[in-house]
Amino acid sequence: MIRSSDATVWAFVGLGSNLDVPRRHLEDALDAFDALPDTRMLRCSSFYRTAPVGFAEQPDFINAVAMVETRLTPRELLDALLTIEHEHGRVRREPNGPRTLDLDLLLYGSIVHHEEGLTVPHPRMHERAFVMVPLAEIAPGAEIPGHGAAIMVARELGHDQRVEALAFDAVA
Ligand code: ADP
Ligand code: MG
Repeated sequence: MIRSSDATVWAFVGLGSNLDVPRRHLEDALDAFDALPDTRMLRCSSFYRTAPVGFAEQPDFINAVAMVETRLTPRELLDALLTIEHEHGRVRREPNGPRTLDLDLLLYGSIVHHEEGLTVPHPRMHERAFVMVPLAEIAPGAEIPGHGAAIMVARELGHDQRVEALAFDAVA
């Protein structure tokens, strides 16, 4: 098990919702991050309206990426994220299906790690415009191990994935 040896680490978390009032789920989750032990919210991207990936017959998603400072280990942080998801009533039905709240641990410092139920960096983040565009907004230089800086990865993604930044008032 990795310990962060009491050092403070910057981590990035992807947020997504397409049920009920998506904006509210994201806002509640951001408050919940700040309330986690040894963890502080540093920054959050704009909210983005994005086309569903994989399973198209569902509402658009609202996505964002948050940057936190934490002393939790990757496992502790992911467990905390999954608890917050659970509190928002997330029920997993089909992969890529509708969800009230999806929280993904994208990056934990520059650590590359895999164990049962936890892979960092998140293995599909570099393919997903709904992750890379908000991440590049708040941390263009963040290095995705094996793929390069966030801004470069975001630019290389095709324009076939619809991702539009929302003016605050427009977020449904
Ligand atoms: P997606 O990763 O496409 O959002 P799910 O949210 O349905 O898909 O998958 C969540 C599962 O993936 C969780 O049970 C969790 O244990 C596992 N998992 C492994 N690594 C990560 C990570 N970095 N962030 C979030 N979930 C992860
Ligand atoms: Mg997830």
